[in-house]
Amino acid sequence: MPSSVKSAPSSASNGHAPRITGKATPSKLQANKMVFYFGKSKTEGNATQKVLLGGKGANLADMCSIGLPVPPGFTITTETCAAYYRAGQRLPVGLMNEVHKYVNLLEKETGKKFGSAENPLLVSVRSGAAVSMPGMMDTILNLGLTDAAVEGLASKTGNRRFAFDSYRRLINMFGDVVMGVPHDMFENAFKAIKAKYKAEDDTDVPEEGIIELCEAYKEVFRKRVGEMFPQNPFKQLELAIEAVFKSWNGERAVAYRRLQGITGLTGTAVNIQAMVFGNMGDTSGTGVAFTRSNTTGENKFTGEFLINAQGEDVVAGIRTPRPTDEIAKWDKKVYDQLQKIKVKLEKHYKDMQDIEFTIEDGELYMLQTRTGKRTGQAAVKIACDMVKEKLITEKQAVVRIPAGDLYQLLLPSFDQSKKKTAEKIAEGIPASPGAAVGKLAFTAAEAVDRAHKGEKVILVRTFTSPEDVEGMHSAAGILTSTGGRTSHAAVVAAGWGKCCVVGANELLIDEKAGTMTVGKRVLTRSDVISLDGTTGEVMIGTVATTEPKLSSDFQTVMRWADKYRTLAVRTNADTPADARRARDFGAAGIGLCRTEHMFFDSQRITAMREMILAETVESRVKALDKLLPFQRDDFVGIFTAMKGLPVTIRLIDPPLHEFLPHDDKGQHEVAKALGVTVDKVRLRVQQLHEANPMMGHRGCRLCVTYPEILKMQVRAIVEAYLDCVANGIKAMPEIMHPLVGTQKELNFLRELTLQTIEEVKKEKGWQKRIEIPIGTMIEVPRAAVTADQIAHHADFFSFGTNDLTQLTFGYSRDDVNNFLPDYLHRELLETDPFVSLDTSGVGELVKMGVSKGRSVNDKLKVGICGEHGGDPKSVHFCHTAGLDYVSCSPYRVPIARLAAAQAAILAENAGK
Ligand code: PEP
Ligand code: MG
Repeated sequence: MPSSVKSAPSSASNGHAPRITGKATPSKLQANKMVFYFGKSKTEGNATQKVLLGGKGANLADMCSIGLPVPPGFTITTETCAAYYRAGQRLPVGLMNEVHKYVNLLEKETGKKFGSAENPLLVSVRSGAAVSMPGMMDTILNLGLTDAAVEGLASKTGNRRFAFDSYRRLINMFGDVVMGVPHDMFENAFKAIKAKYKAEDDTDVPEEGIIELCEAYKEVFRKRVGEMFPQNPFKQLELAIEAVFKSWNGERAVAYRRLQGITGLTGTAVNIQAMVFGNMGDTSGTGVAFTRSNTTGENKFTGEFLINAQGEDVVAGIRTPRPTDEIAKWDKKVYDQLQKIKVKLEKHYKDMQDIEFTIEDGELYMLQTRTGKRTGQAAVKIACDMVKEKLITEKQAVVRIPAGDLYQLLLPSFDQSKKKTAEKIAEGIPASPGAAVGKLAFTAAEAVDRAHKGEKVILVRTFTSPEDVEGMHSAAGILTSTGGRTSHAAVVAAGWGKCCVVGANELLIDEKAGTMTVGKRVLTRSDVISLDGTTGEVMIGTVATTEPKLSSDFQTVMRWADKYRTLAVRTNADTPADARRARDFGAAGIGLCRTEHMFFDSQRITAMREMILAETVESRVKALDKLLPFQRDDFVGIFTAMKGLPVTIRLIDPPLHEFLPHDDKGQHEVAKALGVTVDKVRLRVQQLHEANPMMGHRGCRLCVTYPEILKMQVRAIVEAYLDCVANGIKAMPEIMHPLVGTQKELNFLRELTLQTIEEVKKEKGWQKRIEIPIGTMIEVPRAAVTADQIAHHADFFSFGTNDLTQLTFGYSRDDVNNFLPDYLHRELLETDPFVSLDTSGVGELVKMGVSKGRSVNDKLKVGICGEHGGDPKSVHFCHTAGLDYVSCSPYRVPIARLAAAQAAILAENAGK
């Protein structure tokens, strides 16, 4: 989630979302101007003033300026809303005088009069902040109607039913939205009238019924509010303006801002606009549409409309709207006009628009335009089409596509229409996107076994550990009831692009009983669930999915991205299959190959355990010798898949206890397999127990204690390298030491590594040079702070920002979810620092590490391989911090490529 305002790419002519900050910057002349007019007589605002006028207000002014048919009106600024709060929730002095003045202008332009009993001016009142914000005040329509004015409207339009229908809508909306009268009180009154007149639909109620309804509504209002419905239109307007201001800090709006990470805005604007009526009969109507499809991007006007209706009828879903295509059959003139407006709007805003319009007796009016939200697929197609249409440049297209949304193009997803009817049972953290369907499997072994037999299973666990990887790999999806975004399940699944939901804490998973309980519902291994890794939803049964097809537009966008980016993109991969996939996605090498994942295969784990249980160096070496051929073959496979590209291999990292079973049954099995007593296994597990294993005997500390592990791994790398060379395959290994904190530590490991390389060379009779850069991860704060010392012994640095974040904050990666939601809820943290790099804390350490490292070694190659390497915002940071590459899971490679190009283009634009 971005820390500042999240909005769809906007209309700015440079083609990318302008960063909206909280500082309104009216010119000096306009500094105290509270109200801005838009209409035929004059238009005071423009599209650049979104912060001051809100998105809606700025675009209404803008549409007037380009000659579109917009009902005239005026906008009260967001600054005025801020002043309202500064004054202890009082309307600023002089505001209502200004409003009076502007209503006069509106009266002149429309030839109507506010509150008039002959020809009344009615207005709509709408909130509108700089970013569209559901949760703020709903629209009030028909404001200005009173007992007198309703008669004026009736005689002017010659439609008494329409006039009173408008009046009852106002009393209802005003009562509900401004005065807090519960909506169902009005509903009940309407039901009673419908019953009395035996009317099925609202529209079946005759004129006298609607007039009666107005009286009933006024009575509801009086009873609940304790006052009569205001008969002074200016009083109505004043109360409505204040209600809009109040809604800025309403619970829903505050929650929305928090969830979307919207910060820094000072308030909402209020838009007051002359009413036009879509409910004046069968030549009137109202609609909402996208100028191009928001789901596929097809260049086709797409939306819905209703004949004889007001805007809220479309949204409320009481009547089923018709597709906008059918407007042509209903009113060809209006349809043609809308097509022209579509072209004009897109030419002007250079982006797809989301519009609202009303037709009053055959006359079309535009009520709103804004940049339309869209799916990843639509974003890519629209950007490519608009380049072809010469509406935008390649660079604008690249900057406009939300990089993270590319994910949607790479994975199968649930059919949205099918999802609507699915039964949702829980929601967790969406850890790895995609759509998975399968029967429940409660252990890794069970998942492997059943998957082998051709069953699709979802592995459900309280949490996962390295022991579970095979089962995780075999499963169609992974679901855990605990853990956060960097928990084992989340990181491993994201690495594979496997659908995964973690931390779904409503679920009670009982491995022994083979049940998953949620509320009163008990699911067993014969039950099927559907897992949405994009949203975190868990649904019962099979929800249909749709397969992705990588369009040529996608390839075009990637080509553009590569043209403009300077940051290289590598991948985190531990298998040849992952490596190939990442290469297909455009990875320029492997930035992190976690070797320990290779030890969990059933054949290797026994040798690994033998090594851990060994009591002497000799017996440890004997066990390691068994692992050597496996490691070598793995590396040959990976080097082959990545031939010609660098592969950074990280030596063993996790604490050894992770490789031993902790349960009795597992320990018995190990004892049997290795021919030792169970007590011996138990004792070793106890010995390896640490109070805080993530800060314990792990990372390079293991090779300090057991140098023979390093020797085996380095030997496997060199032997694999020589095998590849013999087969004409260009292998380019790099050796990386994890969790280094001091220069002596790295120096020791480097020497041992070099020594081993030489030993193998000699043994194999290899005369030529072997070019294997040796580097270190920077994931301990001390390493960043002393990077100028450490860099003496490193050819490259790779920032392991998972651990660096853990150790900088002191937040356990595995347990952060216990308290992180509270921190986000209270806005003590803007985002999850394990998802998006904490630029001001961890980021400073990264910058320090880069500059100190390069101060002693200007050839030092610097990258990042924590999960942040695939997060667009963090990629931007990495570009600015001067890194050479980012490394991320295969499925995030295209995202990182695009984000890197965006960072480069934005930096170039900023420098201009
Ligand atoms: C890291 O700490 O950022 C890293 C990449 O290593 P791991 O996640 O394997 O600890
Ligand atoms: Mg790490």
